[in-house]
Order: sequence, then structure tokens, then C-alpha cells
Amino acid sequence: MVSIAEALNLIHSNVKAVHTEILPVESALGFVSAEHIHAKFDLPRFDNSAMDGYAVTMADAGGTIVSQPTIFAGDDSSVKVTKGHGVKIMTGAVIPEGADAVIPVENTSRSEAGIQLPQTVKKGANIRKRGEDIAKGERIVEAGDTIDAYAVTQLTSQGITHLRLYRKPAVSVFATGHELRMHYEHVEAHQIYNSNAPTFIARSRELGCEARFTGVTADTMESIKEQIAASLDSDLIITSGGVSVGDADFTKEAFYELGMEVLFEKVDIKPGKPTTVGRIGSTWIVNLPGNPSAAAVNFEIFAQSIIRRLRGMNRPFLAPITTFSKRDISLKAGKHTVILGKFDGSGFEALPKQGPGMVSPLKRAEGFIITVPQTDFIPAGSQVKMIPLHCPTGSEKEAELFTSV
Ligand code: AMP
Ligand code: MG
Repeated sequence: MVSIAEALNLIHSNVKAVHTEILPVESALGFVSAEHIHAKFDLPRFDNSAMDGYAVTMADAGGTIVSQPTIFAGDDSSVKVTKGHGVKIMTGAVIPEGADAVIPVENTSRSEAGIQLPQTVKKGANIRKRGEDIAKGERIVEAGDTIDAYAVTQLTSQGITHLRLYRKPAVSVFATGHELRMHYEHVEAHQIYNSNAPTFIARSRELGCEARFTGVTADTMESIKEQIAASLDSDLIITSGGVSVGDADFTKEAFYELGMEVLFEKVDIKPGKPTTVGRIGSTWIVNLPGNPSAAAVNFEIFAQSIIRRLRGMNRPFLAPITTFSKRDISLKAGKHTVILGKFDGSGFEALPKQGPGMVSPLKRAEGFIITVPQTDFIPAGSQVKMIPLHCPTGSEKEAELFTSV
């Protein structure tokens, strides 16, 4: 048996990223970049106007100018600004030679003599300088960054069409248990639906994997071994059930017989102690317990960490949110204990009803905390570290949006 910290250390020092492929930017969303991408040119590409106004010299401050033909964004103009001669300019247009500043239209007035400028003209006012956003050669995407909408902005603003990405890890999931039926089958009074495998398929996809469901096995060595053999072309196999000391628990034995090297067997965690991680060749294996809530929290901690490494992420470690507990929490000391709870953006509230065999807590919870063995009471107001499952970006009731200091 290992501690949670030892188990995570073993994962992070052993699991390496999958192979790479080249995809167009349009197909890269949700993938992880396998290379640093550098800016090919400065952005802005040229000094340009931040306002609709007049490009003028400082020498004309407080005076009157005549305006030459307007320069629009996209114009390749050769007009020059000289004393007494400004240029009307639109946002995004190239700053003409000789201009020191752009005076917004609303700060000028028209007279018989021309355009009247304000008393002060500050050098560089309303001019966006070449390279002030991104300098040529700067890193715009790092190896290990996930490509999201704003990474797409970086790439397309530089005219980058293709990039090298880590493939999506291939995950196979199967459940073991004589009592299990598939959700599309008839279920007898003494049977239950297999909800774990569909859950881990869905969650693996949410975490950026290609996941496939290979079925349910009976509690026999033959049937489990057959299922394993059919999944060995995956990067990761996730199983649930059959890992305890029950008379029908054959999952681990089946993997051992097919040559599984163990990374760790059993973790000092409540719930989910039987969780085992190993590999056969280059395929990683996570054996989770059958109890749905126990399986899910161990998936979140261990399988997610493996997935983050397989994906090549440059932020592979789980990152807790520091918040506080809204209410007192009493628990049994002696183990690292996982407590699921609600998080509304301000504080953590343990779910009143949670047990390893339940299916409802994972839907209700936004995250979980892991206590250390000596903790038996967390008073309301204590700081806690919550590992998020899915953080709310929306609110049921209209929320206060403004910061006032
Ligand atoms: P096991 O780890 O196989 O002893 O199973 C522990 C508990 O989890 C038992 O009550 C099982 O019926 C339940 N269970 C096992 N596998 C699943 C599954 N795939 N979906 C839902 N419940 C399961
Ligand atoms: Mg079982």
C-alpha cells in the first residue's frame, strides 16, 4: 500500500506523453501542443491609430490644421503629416510619416480656417506601437498548452495554419461484475445497471481522450482476460470492480496473468483503497473499485493524473482551489479521507449524504477535499483546499458582477 502522495509521484515520474500528429488549427481545439510556437512578426505589424481622429504633429498643438484625404484601415497610403497639415485617420489605419499623435475627432472642432486642435498634444497619444502586443520571436503557444479559443487567436493572428499536437490518448473502459447489465438491457430485480463504464467513458472524453467502451465482463478469469487482450492497443485501460478481496474478485489476477507490472497496489485513501495502477507494455492500467462514488473520486485523482501526463500537458498536476468551509464537518480520523461538496464560487459545503456506493454525490458535488489522517473536525470558516470536478461559471440566481474597492 502507498500513500496518495507516493502514488501521484509514481504516476508523474513514469507516465510519458503519447505520440504526436500534425493537424490544422481548425481541428486543434482541445488538443495539447507538442511544440513551442513563436511569433513570425510583430503585432501590431505597424504603428496604427487607436481612434478615429486626426494624425498630427506636436508642433500644431493649440493651432489649426487643414486635413488631407482620409486614411482608412487597410489603405497603403503615402500621405505625410507636416506642420499645418494633418490627416484624418480611422482606427487601425497605418500612422503616416511625420505624425506624433492621433487626436480623437471629438476633441477637435471645425472652423473656417480648418480643424482646431486642443492645447496639448501628447507624443504617441492614441498610437498603437508596432510590436507592443507581441514581439517577433516571442513564444505565443508553449509546448504542453491546451489549444483553446484564445490559443486559436494567437495562432491565427500569426497566420499559422498547422501545428504538431499530442494525439488524444486512446482509453478503453470496461466493467466487471456478474450483477451488471448494460443500460440498454433489461434488468432483473437482483441486478443493477453498469453506470461506471459509461461514466468513465464520458469523463475521459471530457478530459481530452478518445474513449471506447468495450463492454462488461463476467466475474471469470477467461472473460476478463479476453477483454484485456482486446484493449491492449489502448494507451490506458480503466476497469471498475473486482479488485477487493471478495470471492468473485478476479480483475487484478487477470491483469497479472497477462503480465501487468504494478506501479502501485492499494492506496491509503478512503474511499477507494483497492485502486491499483500498472502497465502491460506501453498500455497503462487503472483498476478502480466497483463502488461508484469510490471509483469516481479515485478516477479523478489517479486516472486524471495519468491522462494529463499522456496528453503532454505542461500543467500535469491537480490544482486545488483554496477556499473555506461554510459549515462544520465532522469525520472519522485515521485515514486520508475524500469529502465531496458543493462550491458556489465563495465557499465549500460538504454534501450531507455521501457514501462510496452511491451514484448521486458526484452529480451534486462541484469538488472534493482530501483530509489528512489526524483530522476529525473541520470548523466552519476553516481554510480548505478543494480539487474541482467542474467549477461553476454560471449562477442559479443573478450574482453581483462588479468589483468596487
Ligand atoms: P466490487 O468492487 O466488484 O466488489 O463492487 C462493489 C460494489 O460496486 C457492488 O455493490 C457492485 O454491485 C457495485 N458495482 C460494481 N461495478 C459497478 C458498475 N460498473 N456500475 C455500478 N455499480 C457497480
Ligand atoms: Mg464485483
